[in-house]
Amino acid sequence: YTCDVLRNFSIIAHIDHGKSTLADRLLELTGTIQKKQSGKNEQVLDKLKVERERGITVKAQTASMVYKFGGRDHMLNLIDTPGHVDFAWEVSRSLAACQGALLLVDASQGVQAQSISVFHNAKERGLTIIPVLNKIDLPAAQPERIAAQMQSTFGINPDDIIRISAKTGQGVASVLEAIVTRIPPPTGSTTTPLKAFLFDSFYDRYRGVISLVNVQEGILRKGDKIASCHTRKKYEVTELGIMHPEEVPADSLRAGQVGYVACNMKESSEAHIGDTIHRVGESVEPLPGFQPAKAMVFAGIFPVDSNDFPKLEESIKRLTLTDRSVTVQRESSSALGQGCRLGFLGTLHMDVFRQRLEDEYDANIIITAPTVPYKLIYRDNREVFISNPTEFPDTSDTASKVKEIQEPIVKASIIVPEEYFGDMMELCFSHRAENLDHRYLDSGSATSSRIILTCTLPLSEIVTNFFDQLKSRSSGFASFDYEDAGYKQSDLAKMSFLLNSKPVDALAIIVHRSAQDKIAREWVKKLHKVIPRQLFEVPIQAAIGRKVLARETLSAMRADVTAGLYGGHYERKMKHLENQKEGKRRMKKMGTVELPQEAFFDILSNK
Ligand code: GDP
Ligand code: MG
Repeated sequence: YTCDVLRNFSIIAHIDHGKSTLADRLLELTGTIQKKQSGKNEQVLDKLKVERERGITVKAQTASMVYKFGGRDHMLNLIDTPGHVDFAWEVSRSLAACQGALLLVDASQGVQAQSISVFHNAKERGLTIIPVLNKIDLPAAQPERIAAQMQSTFGINPDDIIRISAKTGQGVASVLEAIVTRIPPPTGSTTTPLKAFLFDSFYDRYRGVISLVNVQEGILRKGDKIASCHTRKKYEVTELGIMHPEEVPADSLRAGQVGYVACNMKESSEAHIGDTIHRVGESVEPLPGFQPAKAMVFAGIFPVDSNDFPKLEESIKRLTLTDRSVTVQRESSSALGQGCRLGFLGTLHMDVFRQRLEDEYDANIIITAPTVPYKLIYRDNREVFISNPTEFPDTSDTASKVKEIQEPIVKASIIVPEEYFGDMMELCFSHRAENLDHRYLDSGSATSSRIILTCTLPLSEIVTNFFDQLKSRSSGFASFDYEDAGYKQSDLAKMSFLLNSKPVDALAIIVHRSAQDKIAREWVKKLHKVIPRQLFEVPIQAAIGRKVLARETLSAMRADVTAGLYGGHYERKMKHLENQKEGKRRMKKMGTVELPQEAFFDILSNK
């Protein structure tokens, strides 16, 4: 596959607007993959089970295809990008290896919140944008109206918009042509010293870490002695090639090409995303790297059976090899034993990771309530970030030593049909929104208009069930996106939960003072429901400092009740119970209260 002409591009879009489907059509049309007889959408680039189940692309995938145009072979390198808000980091990472992007918009849904954020991201990187209207086969498609929307939102000339159906294949050939004619070829000389940009990596059981690179200068050859600008470590290239879409070995990758490199890297940490690879003996100026991924949602993960900790830790390690944006630290809890504290980019990211852990590693885990990183400014001006409620100082300490507590806030935008505007305003206000503003995205005639609503929200308010509420209160029509907006002073405190007057560390949470009573009552009720009765009466209390805000009393078990009876009935528990070996139900001793791991499981998984 040695082609003279190269194009590197990605597909960017709001979720479900058809990226994976279009990628499949492009691969088929270029003969890279076989067209499926069944007519079923296979979506070859969505490899993970969790992606298929949720219909989202989690991991950016790369594929090269050869396209004949004007009598010449062109190698087109596609980098498929994930479309969810949590994965913005991964999107921008892959954009750095491209010169152009297909901006895909669903002709029935129109411009959505992430259409806007991915557009700006690509624009900022100076990429050539090819606007594409997809799903024109749908009866509900309104290509004229959505084209006008793209013009007013992005300043795109409607004449430049390609109208396609990724499902039927209509118009897809013009997309291939536009990639060649509109996107500039990668620049870079093959005679200059090697400079390769490492933009992704994955783990292979036999070959170790495989890196995906974009050679920006020079030629990378099999057998080359290479070194990392970041770690200064040296390697020998044992294998390289292109993703077609599976790995196809080659002798070299030259300037502009995208491909994989195996070089006996043992640890995933050696493949530093954003790193520059050069040849040993040649000194080069490193390419501008990336801002490292910033974990914004933290949670503790513990094995249901604490004997499983080594296995869990190993599984987490393996999984983080394929998802480098997850941060990992060991954590121990008096209630749950040894575990890991993981940092994620967002809550969907966390859910996806948990599901992958369960699917791919058969892990039985308890995950604590998510926490965002809080900033504490002490009287001596020291700044400390805390992402674990157990480390949060008690009110007595905060009063004397802490000058200010700050929490991360985000700038949120919600796009919604006009009739749901009131509901969305209410939803935002109940989540401590500020600086609310709105404008019309377009003014439709027959159909209703859509509004873009912007506001600032504390990140902690959107890490639990904000997204679910947004969807249910807008009948699924609202789309949502957010970006980092720094830190802001806030009135926060640590809420502890006490069983029989003993605080349970794994249950502590950080709350805003304005909601403390409501939260205290809700959680105490919930605990009362799921904690099994004991042989004696157990007070369940929620407290901030010494002040008890809510209390329920678990009455003593009567003699005729079967010992160990346990009342929760959630799906997860069932799965978990099946997996548990009979008679091996471990009880956690909380003072004198017997608290089975299942109780934690239910308390923490039932949001
Ligand atoms: P992604 O989330 O952007 O990767 O979107 P997918 O490619 O997974 O597509 C989302 C859904 O839209 C799937 O059910 C596709 O079958 C469907 N879809 C994609 N393109 C078209 C199209 O051109 N027409 C129709 N009718 N459906 C489409
Ligand atoms: Mg997809």
